[in-house]
Amino acid sequence: MYMSNLYIETPTLLSEPLSLTAGKPVWLKLEALQPSGSFKLRGVSLLCQQELARGARGFVSSSGGNAGIAVAYVGRKLGVPVRVVVPETTSEVARQLIRAEGAELIVHGESWFEANAYVQESLAWDEAFIHPFDHPLLWQGHSSLIYEVVQCGIKPSVVVLSVGGGGLLCGAVEGMQRVGWHDVPVLAMETEGAESFAAARAAGRAVRLPAITSIASSLGARQVCDQALTWADQHPVISEVVSDAAALIACERLLQDHRLLVEPACGAALAAVTESSKHLQSAESILVIVCGGVTMTDVQMRQLLVD
Ligand SMILES: *Cc1c(COP(=O)(O)O)cnc(C)c1O
Repeated sequence: MYMSNLYIETPTLLSEPLSLTAGKPVWLKLEALQPSGSFKLRGVSLLCQQELARGARGFVSSSGGNAGIAVAYVGRKLGVPVRVVVPETTSEVARQLIRAEGAELIVHGESWFEANAYVQESLAWDEAFIHPFDHPLLWQGHSSLIYEVVQCGIKPSVVVLSVGGGGLLCGAVEGMQRVGWHDVPVLAMETEGAESFAAARAAGRAVRLPAITSIASSLGARQVCDQALTWADQHPVISEVVSDAAALIACERLLQDHRLLVEPACGAALAAVTESSKHLQSAESILVIVCGGVTMTDVQMRQLLVD
């Protein structure tokens, strides 16, 4: 079967404003420009195409966020029916985006836990469940963004990214290992109240957070995937946690500097630069993965800045 690319090759932009702030080159990998609005499309499109080749006749997601939207987008492009089961807490904006892709939206349960349980028990034999972050093909798909940076002739001295369940981290590190960037550390950013990776690193084992209290909903996995912790033992990975406010200010800064609106989940990575992280002090150049996010609106951004 021909594997067409449903994601786009995104620009690797030298941010003049952020470079002036940091006093060194800051490159932005603009995953916010993906057709589905986030990097998720890279891995999700690869996994969905593999499942289709294996005979799947439908895709099912339990994510009301960017993963669900990516699955819905891929389903529309491939002509495969998609069901997205979300909890009652999922915003109207996200619900509309999922419906607009032609997916069947099912609202079930109080939290993601109940929505996901419903997906698992209602899965038909010919439907494929598409996990939001924990699958080797997702990581392989995400890793393509590193190859694109290499093709631009860029090798940064640090890669900054956000961590939710750790899918982006696994994909980026996989790509970095493949291209020989063994010496380039990853700065893994989270917000307070969604710091599942930082908690696991501190404990030296997988940890489940009791609850998610951050506004960065796309970082809201209570536990990171095991592979993220495995990579952290095999590749230099530094963990840092910022406040919701810092992530939000970084979003506002990106909007002003580059006319791009992203979610607080993405702002967490940008905050490493805008808050002058001590982990970036000795770096000669910085690559930030601007992972995107479509559930943030201009109205919501202004609201959050007031609160
Ligand atoms: C999914 C997502 C994240 C977190 O990615 P993980 O693979 O879950 O670690 C961060 N930001 C945005 C915008 C996302 O969609």
